[in-house]
Parts: sequence; C-alpha cells; structure tokens
Amino acid sequence: MGMEAVNTGISDADSVEDDETEDDQTVEASGDPTLGQVLLAVEELWPESLAEDWDEVGLVVGRPTVPVTKVLFAVDPTLAVIDEAIEWGAELLITHHPLLLKGVNSVAATSAKGLAVHRLIEAGTGLLTVHTNGDSAVGGVSDVLADAFGLENVTPLTVAANGLPEEGIGRVGELRELMTLGDFAARVFEMLPAVAGGVRVAGDKDGLVRRVAVCGGAGDSLFDAVRASHADVYVTADMRHHPASEAREGATNGRPYLIDVSHFASEWLWLPAAAEALGNVLADQGYDVEIRVSSTNSDPWDFILTPGGD
Ligand SMILES: [Zn+2]
Repeated sequence: MGMEAVNTGISDADSVEDDETEDDQTVEASGDPTLGQVLLAVEELWPESLAEDWDEVGLVVGRPTVPVTKVLFAVDPTLAVIDEAIEWGAELLITHHPLLLKGVNSVAATSAKGLAVHRLIEAGTGLLTVHTNGDSAVGGVSDVLADAFGLENVTPLTVAANGLPEEGIGRVGELRELMTLGDFAARVFEMLPAVAGGVRVAGDKDGLVRRVAVCGGAGDSLFDAVRASHADVYVTADMRHHPASEAREGATNGRPYLIDVSHFASEWLWLPAAAEALGNVLADQGYDVEIRVSSTNSDPWDFILTPGGD
C-alpha cells in the first residue's frame, strides 16, 4: 500500500530528469543507467532531506558515471554482505545502515571498515546509504512494518521536520479487529525473518490490543510519542532496560504493552519493498536493472539461552 502511494508520484516519465531535454516527449532510455541516474531515482523515493540531522546518508563509494546493471539491497554493509554483492557482480550495494557514520581519519585495510572500502573500490562496487530517509519516507521501514502487521489508518508517530504530514519516524495505526497480545505477538513473529533472539513481549498475553505503534530499528526514544498516540502495544527493536522498565511502570491498564524484536529483522522487511519501488522507478525511465535482496543474515546474535517455557 505504501508502494502505491510512492509510485503515483513518479509515474510521469518526463518529470524524472532535468538534464535530458532533447527527448522530453518519451523517455526511451537505451542501455543501462549510470550510478548517477540510479541516485536520482533513489532521491525520488527516499529524499536525503528526510534524513535526521545526526545521520549520514548518500553515496559512500562509487563513480556516478559507472553503468549499473545489478543492485543489491541489504540492512548492513558487513564484509559478508559486501562479498555477496561483489560475487553477484553488483555495481551498487544499497544498505540501510551507514558504513561510516562517524568521522574517520583512515580507510587503511587494517580495520574492518577500511577493508570494506577497499573491497568495494577494488571490485568496482558502489555503496549507497538509505537510512533515516528510508525510515521516514512513505513506503519506508515503519510503513512496511505497519502493512505487514495488518495496520490501517496509519500515521507517523513523529511527523518529519522537513517532509509531508505522512512522513516521519515510526507509524501508528489500527488492527482490523481486536486481538490478544499473544496472538498479535505471534503475528509479529511470523512476519519477521527468523533470528536467534526471537521476539520478547512485556504485558498480559490475554490483554486485548487494537491500536499499534511501530518503529523499525531502535525506537525506545519514542515512548512519549507512543503514549501520546494511545497505542495499546508498541513494536520496536533494541529496547533497553530503563526505558522499557519505566514505560511499564508508567503504563495505564498495562498499556502500552511492549514487543521487542531484532533490529536487523525489523528493518529487513523493508528491503523487498524498497527493491520493488526502485525497480519500478527505473522501469518507468525505460531501464531494466536487476535488483535483488541480500540473503545474508547480518543480525549479530547467534544463539539464545532461556529458562524454558513456550
Ligand atoms: Zn537500524
């Protein structure tokens, strides 16, 4: 559903490019798009202006003049993911998380990040970050989560500073019917890719929920917005002890209940939707680029011990 909203905005082929004025009646692209042209398509979908101030998004490695035939989408620019992109022959790897969020003084291949930069450049594979701009946009990470969990009448949890009213971090919406917290948690578990950490829930398993807040990735800084939204349950990742504990202590009738999921899993769900959206924009411009979602699980956790139960 989010994807349809995205596509309606870019269906006019002649609105896409400023530079190619010779042939503005029909855009019949020949050959492969350059990396620079793919960047313009990305900007249509996930404008950099939607990124948070602290974030670093955009092109990390790559020449804008290089032709692009294959694009791989992934959550993390880990070495395993980079190897997957190179082995497949992708000229562009698009990841949700930045490789270089903090300033660096060296990209020598003596550190993991330096090695990542070397492997990418040596293979001729570009790296592009679509992070909080991908969270905030219509059809972004939390929109896809809301859709997967069956939410309707979805609005942002916090409206974007530089965007439309429907853009922003997190989403809140309603289930079509009341569900128990246990059943809703089972739905969340089923929709997300399987990871070692599973899904953790705080609240009465038989308590009823209808209004649901979601935030892909680490969302425990949004509890004020969650309470203001009157959500019955909040689904996010990386919930730390103190924010979670304080939210439970301050809950009204036990709500909002909390569902803590894998950071990787919560953002992975966006990848197929993002790949499809980018493919549609490029196809509207006459380009046929092969776009694939990484099969690498970059969740850092490998196994879990619990005291039992089901
Ligand atoms: Zn994240």
